[in-house]
Amino acid sequence: MDRYRDFHHRSIHDREAFWRAEAALIDWHEPFREVLDFSRPPFSRWFVGGRTNLCHNAVDRHLKDRAAQPALVYLSTETGDRRIFTYAELHAEVNRMAAVLASLGVGRGDRVLVYMPMIAEAAFAMLACARIGAIHSVVFGGFAAASLAARIDDAQPKAMVTSDAGMRGGKPVPYKHLVDAALRLAKHPPAKVLIVDRGIDKAMARTSGRDVDYAELRAKHLSASVPCAWLESSEPSYILYTSGTTGTPKGVQRDTGGYAVALASSMRRIFAVPPGEAMFTTSDIGWVVGHSYIVYGPLINGSTTIMYEGLPIHPDPGIWWKIVAEHKVRTMFSSPTAIRVLKKQDPKYMRMHDVSSLERLFLAGEPLDEPTARWASESLGVAIVDNYWQTETGWPILSAQPGVEDTPRKFGSPSFPVYGYDVRLVDEATGRESGTDQKGVLTIAPPLPPGCMTTVWGDDERFVRTYFGTIPGKSLYSTFDWAIRDADGYYFVLGRTDDVINVAGHRLGTREIEEAVQSHSGVAEVAVVGVADTIKGQIPVAFAVLKDPSRAATADAAAAMRKEVMDAVDRQLGAIARPGQVHFVTLLPKTRSGKLLRRSIQALAEGRDPGDLTTIEDPGALEQIRAALAAR
Ligand code: AMP
Repeated sequence: MDRYRDFHHRSIHDREAFWRAEAALIDWHEPFREVLDFSRPPFSRWFVGGRTNLCHNAVDRHLKDRAAQPALVYLSTETGDRRIFTYAELHAEVNRMAAVLASLGVGRGDRVLVYMPMIAEAAFAMLACARIGAIHSVVFGGFAAASLAARIDDAQPKAMVTSDAGMRGGKPVPYKHLVDAALRLAKHPPAKVLIVDRGIDKAMARTSGRDVDYAELRAKHLSASVPCAWLESSEPSYILYTSGTTGTPKGVQRDTGGYAVALASSMRRIFAVPPGEAMFTTSDIGWVVGHSYIVYGPLINGSTTIMYEGLPIHPDPGIWWKIVAEHKVRTMFSSPTAIRVLKKQDPKYMRMHDVSSLERLFLAGEPLDEPTARWASESLGVAIVDNYWQTETGWPILSAQPGVEDTPRKFGSPSFPVYGYDVRLVDEATGRESGTDQKGVLTIAPPLPPGCMTTVWGDDERFVRTYFGTIPGKSLYSTFDWAIRDADGYYFVLGRTDDVINVAGHRLGTREIEEAVQSHSGVAEVAVVGVADTIKGQIPVAFAVLKDPSRAATADAAAAMRKEVMDAVDRQLGAIARPGQVHFVTLLPKTRSGKLLRRSIQALAEGRDPGDLTTIEDPGALEQIRAALAAR
């Protein structure tokens, strides 16, 4: 482990020299004056004074050597589309999209909200924003109108880019329809909505003056050549919203230069993908993994990225292995939930395809259980690289780093701190560092490395308070995850310290779901907890107190009410947040000071001991939870 140890050590103790060398992996239009400005902790500014552009690094700079190499392979098993864009073609498409956005009045520093299915134009839109210095905010297509409206109001975009519809499992999923609903709710709607019409939703409505058609405008800009805006390194590249403990999602703001360097560096040192090779990342552009390792990372690295629209089991459960075989994929990045879904399928689907090219399968987004890791490793004959990170960090915090040194991995552990991250496990109450095998909060001593969030969009104070204000006596960035480190230095992530849950790798705040349940006028109070699930990791389960308990008095009435509550969540947040179960009780377990005893509720729902109950106001409330669970 010496090479890894030395690399990590240098990244922290010889920070400037280390990151100066890594910064040479990207093109700078103007060199930076200073590697790091940490004069206003905990804020860090990387590569101060340097001017660069993400789109230039992801596209233009490869034209010299890779113009004819595939840059983006777009595959849809929903529509049957298969399009391959070389770097030259990607360059042309991004220029067209950039010209169209500019013609709509979008310029440097303006926000553009991207609400799109997994189509190539979504990547063009992101890169086009980066090109002109506009700040994109991609919202995952599974979010409902109210969530979308909240993000619109926070980012106040000048324009939105959307599509008539996506497809999921052969069924159309309306996007534009949802955008219309969100724009009716939003207080700061954008002036223009750019629509990539796929011809799926024939009944799509258009608002004249506001809605414009991409194909029409693109035709006017076929030979467009839009110069890259040379942004100062710390100028924002994008905002990506993520859930926390409050009902209001946070806009994670990312810089430009630091992010480009972190991605260029991690593609080599962690993912070990050489330029020219294909990388297949199965996430969605609406998540951070999609930003970093479908769009920007592979392209900055001069690799070929594979963008897939569809399910892992449609048209059959061999589809991903077919893609691996056809494109000779050596490096794949997916999520534990997806692998658990595939593990349940007939193994013949895997045997139908030659997956011998595959060497490494990176998995992230949620805890990776040992049986799943073992199964994937053995049946695919590949190395499994569990990597742990967050929307906030933009790239892995804990991971094996095979591009530095091929260290042995332990199942159940995302290995070690990634270079650049000064990880500390600390006691939540005292801030003291935890010893070997001692549970602590996983924190990072600032400065956060390049690529990490620079602030909460529009709210510096919230950034400091939320992330750096929870460990007594110390300014440490909290991940809000528990972890332990074993005697060999391997970390094991044990779950969240807060009320955030993880459903199929998607992070959701229980508070957000509670607010959505309470949007139903019949609900007086509710507690939502995350309950262990064999496929999705966790599912939300709701315990609701009704204003009028008779509305759940009979089995039929309760079933009808349950459906109404689930529909309310679908409307507010989207189906991804829909509770797996809704139970009705007349009382919720709380402490005498009125705090919900979520951990006890969760323990009961998982069949565990509810723990210390000395502070409970009324023990009858827990009995009700027990009874409700038993009656299921
Ligand atoms: P998100 O910001 O949506 O990517 O969610 C980040 C959270 O997912 C982390 O704070 C962890 O709770 C969890 N997470 C991500 N990757 C892993 C992993 N490899 N092992 C365990 N938990 C993970």
